[in-house]
Amino acid sequence: MTGAVHRQVTIVTGGSRGIGAATVELLAAAGHSLIIGYANDEKAAERSAAAARRLGAQRLIVKADVSTEAGAEALFAAAVEHFGVVTGLVNNAGLTAHIGDLADTPVQVIRRVIDVNLVGAVLCSRRAAQLMSTRRGGGGGAIVNVSSAAATLGSAHEYVHYAAAKAGVDALTVGLARELAAEGVRVNAVAPGTVRTDIHAAAGDPDRVERIAARIPLGRAAEPTEIAPAIRWLLSDEARYVTGATIRVAGGL
Ligand code: NAP
Repeated sequence: MTGAVHRQVTIVTGGSRGIGAATVELLAAAGHSLIIGYANDEKAAERSAAAARRLGAQRLIVKADVSTEAGAEALFAAAVEHFGVVTGLVNNAGLTAHIGDLADTPVQVIRRVIDVNLVGAVLCSRRAAQLMSTRRGGGGGAIVNVSSAAATLGSAHEYVHYAAAKAGVDALTVGLARELAAEGVRVNAVAPGTVRTDIHAAAGDPDRVERIAARIPLGRAAEPTEIAPAIRWLLSDEARYVTGATIRVAGGL
């Protein structure tokens, strides 16, 4: 896509680290202007922005908790203020936070995981729909939700509440895709399997990736750079006839 008319301005929530940072790099290389959302780790967000800058992309970092209405609003307000438009949203911010049986999981952990992974995606998608829908005066666009293979596997003994949140993300994808299909906005999802990022250590299990590699049909976990291309493609004009789809990038899981 070239020219001002087709300029792509994309918000990547959780764009500071892991899958989000890999996505920022690929989108920067593809010519997107980027809003890189993060929650706490400003240095990581600045590293991600520096990578985008080296690739020639316009970019800014925005500290915003996606689980709040104010956080979702801040991302879009920054995009409109700096770039004048928003054409893409990657709902990537997420966490697992804790590993164990549901019976042993603190209620506040359950609420946080559902708030960030599901409510965050719903709130950001709501704001995207308000701004992008051609029926509401927007110019159209595309949303990609980062779901998980957990949504269909259920994640017994690890985090069934996280799996339930991601199944909610899959329902959001199908429903909103149909709601916005005639309004110029496509909505799709990517469902990774196990990816080598900080998410596992942050949940207290830094060795999880190695431990479960043997259970993955392709025999290993993915790198973030192996997830990001599906996200970039779903945002691109090549995917213009694709909506309501979830692309599983899970090594056979
Ligand atoms: P990660 O490396 O731990 O990075 C998480 C990102 O989300 C960081 O940028 C973090 O910001 C941001 N974030 C966390 N809570 C947030 C909040 N409340 N508001 C805004 N941003 C927030 O995670 P990852 O593994 O790349 O995961 C990215 C997505 O992929 C998640 O939705 C996850 O569920 C999904 N996924 C991951 C795997 C896997 O095995 N890694 C598998 C399937 C699906 P800070 O840097 O400021 O903390």
